[in-house]
Amino acid sequence: MDINGLQITAERLLSLIFPACCRLCRTPVRPQQHLCPECLDELPWLNSSCARCSLPLPAPSGKVLCGRCQQQPPDFDNTEALFHYQPPIDYLLKRLKFSGELAICPFFSRLLTEHIGKRLTPLPDLILPVPLHHARLRERGFNQSTELARRLGQALDIRVDYRLCKRTRSTHPQSLLPRAERGKNMRGAFRTRRKPAPAHIAIVDDVMTTGHTGCELARTLKRAGAELVEVWVVARAG
Ligand SMILES: [Zn+2]
Ligand SMILES: [Zn+2]
Repeated sequence: MDINGLQITAERLLSLIFPACCRLCRTPVRPQQHLCPECLDELPWLNSSCARCSLPLPAPSGKVLCGRCQQQPPDFDNTEALFHYQPPIDYLLKRLKFSGELAICPFFSRLLTEHIGKRLTPLPDLILPVPLHHARLRERGFNQSTELARRLGQALDIRVDYRLCKRTRSTHPQSLLPRAERGKNMRGAFRTRRKPAPAHIAIVDDVMTTGHTGCELARTLKRAGAELVEVWVVARAG
């Protein structure tokens, strides 16, 4: 047997001896499960947040808006977010984005699908992943928002449009900018490719930090005719 054949046999043997493991504690789990029930339970689920932008709020508060949404409501109308952007979610999302660990995508999209499937309000006509600038896409090789959006569209039976909006320029990473400059950084960053845009759209992204990206994209979509724009994210910082 040549060295390649030996390697393949060794990998097969290893997968029999070490079946799929929880990504956090290494307990064996069923394939595709990603996390064991204990670790899943201990994730920082977002239970209390602003009714519009999902900013974490201290106590379960029902339909309450955060201070910022009361004073200056964002251009999007609603946010669906699963988790606080805290360990280990930040770690898992960074592995997805910067190390190309796409295997975690089905896990997050399944949880988001379950969460959105429970709600009573109407689902959108179309799902739009937050576009990456083509230079960034070339560098990374994939867009994590597209990967999430594709699976959500399949599971919820909603059309996904990757081309409705285009990123017209490469923006600085929002996380590296002072808060005050983040809005300015995103201004005019998107353009719609066709009008009118569908009436009800959900923007999909991995994480919402200040909300400026969602805000700018929602503003662009509403100018193109959208009436209701939501943002769906795995995690919300704040
Ligand atoms: Zn575990
Ligand atoms: Zn808010």
